[in-house]
Amino acid sequence: MKYILLIPTGLSDEPIPSLDGKTPLEVAQTPNLDFLAKHGKVGRAQHTPRKFYPGTDVTSLSVLGYNPEEYYTGRGALEAAHLGVKLGADEVAFRVNLVTVDGEKLVDYNAGQITTKESRALIAYLNKTLSNDAVRFVPGLTYRHLAIFKCKHGLTGLSAACEPPHLVVGKAVEEHFPKGPGEELLAHVMRDSRKLLRDHEVNQVRVDLGENPAGMIWLWGQGVTPNLPNLTKRFGVRGALIAAVNLVRGLGHFAGLDVLNVEGATGYVDTNFESKGQKAVEALEKYDFVCIHIEAMDEAGHEGNVKLKIQCIEQFDRYIVGPVRKFAQSNKDTRILVAPDHGTSSLKRVHLREAAPVLLYGAGVQADEIVWFNEEAARHSNWSFAKGHELMNEFIRKSGSSLRATSQERSRGILPRISSAGRDAPPTRSSPIDASSHNDNEITCVL
Ligand SMILES: [Zn+2]
Repeated sequence: MKYILLIPTGLSDEPIPSLDGKTPLEVAQTPNLDFLAKHGKVGRAQHTPRKFYPGTDVTSLSVLGYNPEEYYTGRGALEAAHLGVKLGADEVAFRVNLVTVDGEKLVDYNAGQITTKESRALIAYLNKTLSNDAVRFVPGLTYRHLAIFKCKHGLTGLSAACEPPHLVVGKAVEEHFPKGPGEELLAHVMRDSRKLLRDHEVNQVRVDLGENPAGMIWLWGQGVTPNLPNLTKRFGVRGALIAAVNLVRGLGHFAGLDVLNVEGATGYVDTNFESKGQKAVEALEKYDFVCIHIEAMDEAGHEGNVKLKIQCIEQFDRYIVGPVRKFAQSNKDTRILVAPDHGTSSLKRVHLREAAPVLLYGAGVQADEIVWFNEEAARHSNWSFAKGHELMNEFIRKSGSSLRATSQERSRGILPRISSAGRDAPPTRSSPIDASSHNDNEITCVL
């Protein structure tokens, strides 16, 4: 049996007034998703446990089958794993953003999408001037880097509440510095970085060119090494991951997946969809389980660019869903699961807490009555997962087992309502999950 897990993060959305109240997923032309929906089953999964925020570091764990309440140890360590950094028992990894500050305010959480070449010069400079026995810096890509702190008390000693920089945009930086254990050290490093980076040659050139300078580092997302059971052993499949985002690649590493590289995969709207789709099909020759993570829809949502999001969804359908659908049709012992880990609102430009739609197709999957894959249709499915991490158990069942929903599964669902949902007969927007969604806890992208 071959298992293909597609994670189009940020795929689902809210009704958009300029689309006559429809979502980008409803409007986009998606013949391949339509086919899978017609011949498979559509439902929903909640990948954000109640006490968590819908950040990629939390939801990615869940969609890969790990309960965040049990396994979440912070995003920093996941990114460190991707960068090949093995953390010691007394080390805590913080995510570093290169940010732009103007006076007292933070004005850009990614320093104008600074290039990797420029940012690496700045991180190297910080390592020369600011690192010591307690802290060192590890370069990543563009504005995303790491700081490794040594602390004899481990995470306990550096457990200050750190605000993600995208939530501080337009606000006074000093008022939003870390608060709690380790706050003095963290604030000290951030303040010193500002003094050092302000006049660096790279920033002078950026200012001359009218680009946002990387005038300071922002520390957040601290974490220690998670202890994740090996996904490959757990499900008895040899697995691979195709993703451009550091955090997801790090998670794949800890999960025991082979993390593959794809030329042109950027983790942004300009990613090479076609290469990713081709790589996935190639990987299926060698691996039983192939996971493809696609970031572009989420980024378009954060930009509030509805048109771009629709284009990204259509490219996802054409270049990624299309080839894996073709593979599944010619290799009958195959299952495809399309499972975004969260939605992203193009209106509010933030992640959505509401359960995301899921679509399962292939061997042993009995088609349900839902023929479209979109938010509204999914809301009215009786196939749903209040604990999204349980979806993986459903997906990777022993070959030949039927995936028809049992009464036990229905009772576990967060939405017991049954409907013949679809575009031809749209159900009313009155499902219980609407009332219980927690939009106050939405979060912008934490990449
Ligand atoms: Zn995001």
